[in-house]
Amino acid sequence: MAAFTNEEYADIIMAYGRADGNAREARRIYEERFPNKRLPSRNIFQNTYQRLRETGNVQNNETRGIVALKNSLKYDTRRSCHGNILKQKNVSKPQIMSVGSVSHGFLCTDVEDIKEYNMTAYLLKHEKTKTEYLHLERDDSNNVFSIGFRTTPLDSMGTPHILEHTVLCGSEKYPVRDPFFKMLNRSLATFMNALTGPDYTFYPFSSQNEKDYRNLQKVYADAVFKPNLHRLDFLQEGWRLEHSKLEDPNSELVFKGVVYNEMKGAFSETSSLFGQRFLNNILPQGTYGYVSGGDPLCIPSLTYEHLKNFHKQFYHPSNARVYSYGNFPLEANLKFLNEKYLSHYEYLDPSKTIVKPQERWTNPKKQDVTCRVDQFGAPIDKQNQIAIGYVMSDVTDISETLLLTTLSELLLIGPNAAFYKSLIEKNISGGYNSLTGYDNQIRDTLFVVGLRDIERSKFEMVEKLTDETIKKVYEKGLDKDHVESVLNGFELSIKHQSPKFGLKVLFNLMPLWNHNGKVIKVLKVNDLIAELKESITNPKHVRDTIERYFINNTHRLIMTMTPDPKFDENFTASELKLLKDKTASLSKEQKEQIYTDGIELSKAQKKKESLETLPCLKIEEIILNKTSPSLKHTVSNIVPLQLCQTNTNGVTYFKGVLGTDSLNNEQRQMIPFFNYVLDKFDTSSHNYRDFHKHVSKIMSGLGVVTHITEHIDQPGQYEQGILISSHCLDANVHKMMDVWREIFDGPDFSNKERFTMLLHNYCSSLTSGVIDNGHSYAMQAARSLVSSVDACKEKLVGIHHVIEMQKVQKDKDVKVLQKVIDDIAAKILSGSNLRAAFHYSPSNEEVQSAIDNFCEYICRNEEQKEVNRINWTDTQETTKIKRSMHISMNIPVNFCAKAIPVVSYTDPDYPKLRVLSKFLSSKYLHPLVREQNGAYGGGAVLSTDGTFNFYSYRDPNTKVTLDIFDNCANWLADNTYLVDEQNLFESKLAILQQMDQPIAEYMKGVDLFLYGLSYDIWQMQRERVLSVKRDDLLEVCFKYLTEDKWCGKCVIGECATKELHKENEIWDKISGPQHE
Ligand SMILES: [Zn+2]
Repeated sequence: MAAFTNEEYADIIMAYGRADGNAREARRIYEERFPNKRLPSRNIFQNTYQRLRETGNVQNNETRGIVALKNSLKYDTRRSCHGNILKQKNVSKPQIMSVGSVSHGFLCTDVEDIKEYNMTAYLLKHEKTKTEYLHLERDDSNNVFSIGFRTTPLDSMGTPHILEHTVLCGSEKYPVRDPFFKMLNRSLATFMNALTGPDYTFYPFSSQNEKDYRNLQKVYADAVFKPNLHRLDFLQEGWRLEHSKLEDPNSELVFKGVVYNEMKGAFSETSSLFGQRFLNNILPQGTYGYVSGGDPLCIPSLTYEHLKNFHKQFYHPSNARVYSYGNFPLEANLKFLNEKYLSHYEYLDPSKTIVKPQERWTNPKKQDVTCRVDQFGAPIDKQNQIAIGYVMSDVTDISETLLLTTLSELLLIGPNAAFYKSLIEKNISGGYNSLTGYDNQIRDTLFVVGLRDIERSKFEMVEKLTDETIKKVYEKGLDKDHVESVLNGFELSIKHQSPKFGLKVLFNLMPLWNHNGKVIKVLKVNDLIAELKESITNPKHVRDTIERYFINNTHRLIMTMTPDPKFDENFTASELKLLKDKTASLSKEQKEQIYTDGIELSKAQKKKESLETLPCLKIEEIILNKTSPSLKHTVSNIVPLQLCQTNTNGVTYFKGVLGTDSLNNEQRQMIPFFNYVLDKFDTSSHNYRDFHKHVSKIMSGLGVVTHITEHIDQPGQYEQGILISSHCLDANVHKMMDVWREIFDGPDFSNKERFTMLLHNYCSSLTSGVIDNGHSYAMQAARSLVSSVDACKEKLVGIHHVIEMQKVQKDKDVKVLQKVIDDIAAKILSGSNLRAAFHYSPSNEEVQSAIDNFCEYICRNEEQKEVNRINWTDTQETTKIKRSMHISMNIPVNFCAKAIPVVSYTDPDYPKLRVLSKFLSSKYLHPLVREQNGAYGGGAVLSTDGTFNFYSYRDPNTKVTLDIFDNCANWLADNTYLVDEQNLFESKLAILQQMDQPIAEYMKGVDLFLYGLSYDIWQMQRERVLSVKRDDLLEVCFKYLTEDKWCGKCVIGECATKELHKENEIWDKISGPQHE
C-alpha cells in the first residue's frame, strides 16, 4: 500500500486516540475531520499505532509480518531501486486528426474518445482507392500494425490459404523465400503472423521498437501488395506432382506441397473436420459452403493462373483494411502507405467479395458424416458426436450479437446453465463438443449445442431434450442471480489488461469490420453493456429473443458424426484415384515438365540466397526495456508471501503454489483430475450450483493447474505442486479470499453421480488437441526418456496420462477414486503447504488484511510453525540407455522429436546452446525439414529443464527427419562458414525477441515466485546471450549434440516401427486402447 506522509500518520494517531483505540470510530472521526484526504483503512489505524509502540516509528519501512524472511527464503532478490512505472493518462491529448481533415491521401471520417480504454479511435479512408484505415491511439508501447483483406472463394481449392503462404515467398523489394520467417531473426517483434479465416486473411505484427516497427511494416506491405508469386513457390507451398525418387523419371508420381500436407493433417483431426463440415452444411450458400483452407481432394484442381488472378482481385487496396494501434505516430504510417503503394493503384470495386446474408431455410435439416477412429479415445461405439445449430443474427448488429453472446453463456456454461442441467448432468456423453457456443466470427452468427462421445441410440433423446430445454427457459425466464454473475464477468474482463491488448482488439474487430460493421461502436463497451443490462433483465425482451432465434427458427441443422474404421482407407483410395486421373491424362511434355520442375525446385531450395535486401535491427538499436520488479517478501502466519504493488487497473491478483510431495504414487497420478474437480462440488457453505454463481459474482473463477518445475541450477531436482490462481476487482478482495477459504475447508466429493459424470467428461476431453499439439507431446515423451523430471511430467501432462486415465476410468471403482481425491485434499489443502503471491494497485488498502485473515484461517490448525518454502524433490537418475518411443496413431502425417540432456539454466553453456538452437532452426532445420522434406514445420528449442529438443510438425517423411536430427553436428562441421557475425547476431535477436516480450502487470516477478528465477539471474542470462561468440556455437554443438550422445526419440503417427530403427536403438511401441 502507498505510504502515508508523516503529517497523515500524525492525524491517524490522533484520530485513533480520540476514538479510544476503536479503529472503526477512528476512521469515522478522520473522515469527518479531513473530508478531502484519502481515507485510510481500519487496519492502518491499528497498525500505525502498534508500530509506533513497538518501533517508535510511524513509517512502515520494514517488511511487515511475523518473521522477516530475508534470509530464510531461498530467493535471491534485492529491493529494486526503481519505483513503479505507472502509465496513467491524466490529461487527454489533443487529437492528431479531426473529422474532414486529409493527411497523405487519407480522409478522416470519424474520431471518438474511448474512455474505458484510455484511447482515441480514428477512422480514415484513402480518397483514391477507398482503403479503410483504423488507428487506435493509446499510451501503450506494444504497437500493432495489420493489413487485412476480405477473401471469399467460391471453391474448396484453398486459394486464399495457398496465397497466404506464397505471398511469403518473396516480393519485389525483398526477393527472399519466407521473409517473415527470416525477419523473425532480424527483428524484436512481439508478434508476427498471417492468418486465414473463413472469409478474411490478415497480416498482423506488433513491436515495441519503432525502428523495428518501420522495418516490419515495409516487409509486410511489400509482401501483400507486391509478391513475386513465382511458379516454383506455388508448387512448393500449394501442390505438385513429383517423382518419389527425384532423379528417377520412371519412379512413381506422388502429391506434394506444404498446404496439401497441412490440410491432410487438419482433415484427420476429428473436431476440426466436424467444425468444417458443420459450417459448410448450415451455411451452404456462397463462400461458407466451401473449405477456405482447402479440401485435400480439391487442392490439386488449383492452377497457378487462378492463384495469380485471385491475388489481383482480392489483395487490392480497395478490398483492404489497415489497422494500427499504440503510441507511434500515425502520420508516418499514412505517408508510407500512400507514397509507396496506394497512390499507384486505381479504385477497383470490391463488391464481388461481399458476403450476403444467408437465405433462411423453411425447414430444419439433418446430416450425418463420418470421421476416423480415435485410437486413444473412448470405446468405438461411444465415439460419436451430435451438434444442433441455429443461424442467428447478422454480425453487424452489434447489440444483438452481445445479447446473444450473453444468452448463450447463460444457457450453456456452468452448473446453473439450462443445457448443462438437461444435457451434461444426464451423463449420457463425454460433455460438450468443441462446436458448442456462440460463433460470431462470420456474417451469419451461429448458436450450437453439441455433445461428444455419445452412443448413436441417444441422438433422438438429445434432440428432444434440446427442444424441451429451450421451452423451459422460455416459460420460466432467466435467474436474476445468474444473469448478474455473467454481467460481473464482463466488467472484470474489461479491467483485466494484457500486454497483447492491441492484438486482441484487432482479432475481435476483424470479423465485424470485414462485413463493414461499425468498429468504433463495438469499442464503446460501457454503452453496450448498459444497453445489454436493460435488455437481458427485461423478461419480455428475453422471451421475444428466445422465440425468434430458437422456437420459431427454422434455419436449424442437426448434424451427427460417426467413426468409420475404413475412413483412412477411403481417403487413401480417393487420393489414389485422383492421382491416377491426374497422371493418366498427362502428355509427354507435361511429364517432362514434372521431372524438370522437381529437380529445379530441389535446386532452388538448396540455393544459398542473399538476405541483404531485408532490413535488420542493429545492436545499438536494442534497448533493454525491462526493470527489476518491485517485490516485497514477507510472511503472514506461516505462509510465505511475495507482494507486488503495481498498476493493475483496479484488479487484485492472487497466485498460490501447493506442494504435492507428500502424496503417494497413486494419488499423484490423479492430480490433474483433482485440479479439474476441485471447484465443482458442494462446499461447507454452498451447494455446487450456488458456489459457481457465488464465485462468478465475485471473481474470475478459480484456476487450478499442475505445476512441475525443475531447479534452475541443480539438475535432477524439481518441485511438484499445484498452482492456484484468481483475480477480482479491488473491492472484492475479502470476498475472493473467503472463496478460497471455502476451498481450503475441503469440498465434499461424496456426490457419486456427479463424480462419475465429471470423470467421464475429463477423460473425454483428454485426446482433443493431441493432433494440434503433436510436436509438444512428442517432445515431452522424448524428454521423459532422458530426464527423470520429465518422466514425472509425462505421467501428468503427456500422452501417458491419457492412457493411464482411460485405464482408471475402466478399471477403478468410483468409491475408491473418491477416497483418493478426498485424501489428496486432506493432505495438501493446508496453510503449511502454501506459498502465495499477490499483485495489486497501491490504492487497494484492503489487501493486507484480506491476506492476513485468510492466512490466519488456513493456518489455525497447524501444529508446525515453520515457514514453508519451495520444496525440491530429488529424482532418481535415469539409466543412460538410448531408448525411443513410437506412439502409434492413425494420422496421415507424423510428429518427430529428439531430446538430448545438456545443462541447467544457470550453466555458462546454457546461453550458448540457446543461441545455437535458433541458429540450427533457421539455417539447418527449417530449410531441410520444412522446405525440402515437406513438413509443416521443424526446429530446435532448448527447454528450461536443460534438454535440447529437435522437432518436426506434420511431417510426411519421418525417417529422413530423424536422420537430419542425428546429423546436425556433422552438418555444422561442413558448414562452419555459415556461423558468421550476421547469422550469429540474428540468432541472438531471436532469443531476445522471447526474452524482451512485454510482461503483464500481474505477471511481474512471477518467474521468481514459480521457478526461483530472479530478475538478476534473468538479466545475467540476457547478457550472456548477447556475448556469445562464433566459436562458442561450434564448441557446444560438438560437445553436446553429436550423434553418439545419449538421447531419447519419439515419433507420433502411423508408420511401421521397424522402419524407424537404427543400429543400437531400442524402440518401444505404444498403441491406444481402441487400436484394432
Ligand atoms: Zn497454412
